[in-house]
Amino acid sequence: MSKVGSAIVATVLLALAAPPANSAPAADAFAAARKAPPLLRAFLYRMPKGGDLHNHLSGAAYAEAIIRAGAAADRCVNPATGAVVWTPPCTAPNRPLRDALTDAKLNNALVDAWSMRDFVPTSGNSGHDHFFAAFGLFGGAASAGDLAAEVADRAGRQRMRYIELMITFQSAQLGNLADTVAKDHPWTGDPAAFEAALNAAGLADLVKAATPEIDAVEQRMRAVMQCGTKDAHPGCGVTVRWLQQVSRTGSAARVFTQTMFGGLLQQADSRVVGLDYVAPEDDPKALANYTDQMHMLDYLHGRLPATNISLHAGELTMGLVRPEELLFHIRQAVELGHARRIGHGVDVMYEENPFSLLKEMAQRRVAVEVNLTSNAQILGVKGADHPFPVYRNYGVPVVLSTDDEGIERIDRTHELQRAVETYGLDWNALVGLERNTLEYAFVEGASFWADPVAWRPVRECGGANPASEATGSCAAFLGTSMKARLQWALEGDLIRFNRETGQKPN
Ligand SMILES: [Zn+2]
Repeated sequence: MSKVGSAIVATVLLALAAPPANSAPAADAFAAARKAPPLLRAFLYRMPKGGDLHNHLSGAAYAEAIIRAGAAADRCVNPATGAVVWTPPCTAPNRPLRDALTDAKLNNALVDAWSMRDFVPTSGNSGHDHFFAAFGLFGGAASAGDLAAEVADRAGRQRMRYIELMITFQSAQLGNLADTVAKDHPWTGDPAAFEAALNAAGLADLVKAATPEIDAVEQRMRAVMQCGTKDAHPGCGVTVRWLQQVSRTGSAARVFTQTMFGGLLQQADSRVVGLDYVAPEDDPKALANYTDQMHMLDYLHGRLPATNISLHAGELTMGLVRPEELLFHIRQAVELGHARRIGHGVDVMYEENPFSLLKEMAQRRVAVEVNLTSNAQILGVKGADHPFPVYRNYGVPVVLSTDDEGIERIDRTHELQRAVETYGLDWNALVGLERNTLEYAFVEGASFWADPVAWRPVRECGGANPASEATGSCAAFLGTSMKARLQWALEGDLIRFNRETGQKPN
């Protein structure tokens, strides 16, 4: 064999033995595609991806899908406001939502009201206001299972392996329980006393009741996607996990009740992998109670330390709130709220001592869920003003996510493209971002990666080829961890993608 020939063989063997970060064909195809946005879109769409870790179920479904599902459920709508009204008969001025399937004018008005499509800010109605108002209009129009099917399918078509969907299980029941308990035991800032009152009032019953609720959502989702049949949709191959939402704009009693419930639910049902605080961070109640709420999470962490906590923090910017509100949210979320992931983190450079915070996040491997389009639409922060490159330069793990792809009228591929075009990412960076979406996922099990920076696999799988079936110690290890199986699958997808791209360079 010639020297060149043996070098080629050695390279091929190396490529098979090691994860395919920088494999030439895909990297070359990416370099060619990025010269024109339409080519880049097509390339990124079919590139294998990890997951989406910041994805609110209600904001992820497109308005058209909500109209379809709501029409099938006989909902009504007020055409003047765009608000869904629950029960028929649809007396004037309300109309059947079904009308929007054939009446293009009504359809257009609803899609515009329920999303950022064609939105033009006017005095008193900013992007922020229009965005958050949408949730209140279409809420309850469609079942969670229908919405989840649409979102999982879209993820599958984009070759994602995993999604974490934010949802509020037992929503009304939790509100009622908190309010009832608070009547006799008003919140005094003593979490142990309030927890005892909650337990006496039957918090555990709500945790039990959540499991059949999750069963029903997942059954409906799979039925819509025709999983297990020959017509199975792409979403059937996507692993779905749930993050329980806590609304930070509620009373202290409600926020604490939802917080404890989130921890207990994760412990009771493995399909729920953690909790997240949601609702506008700039809401006056959310601002006033921010630190108190972080103390509630500190208490939860003491009681149930395995709870995975992701927190919207720093979804703020200059002008939206007083500068003093920009000084501490992310740091408190990390240090007091025990957040393993931060949602948005846009105002990080306004924090007190931002550089020490960045170093701390890098050292503790606290990931930031970056939602570029959402931040542009809600906060007006984009391009060079966004801290995405700062986080990366300081070694803070970053994942690209969508936030509310239906309201934003985007998808996960769009966010990858936006990051590539705005920040000039190379192929290595792209692969690293996708690996991050599984590495920092809350899905159960140990990581495939012993070193999640250099991307060195665990000893059991060193030298194994993810494009083939795992054997021996690697198979045994993968058998113990759902997370590692997803990561192994992504590596296999990337090797095959590289191989296919080499054969078909266009
Ligand atoms: Zn969000």
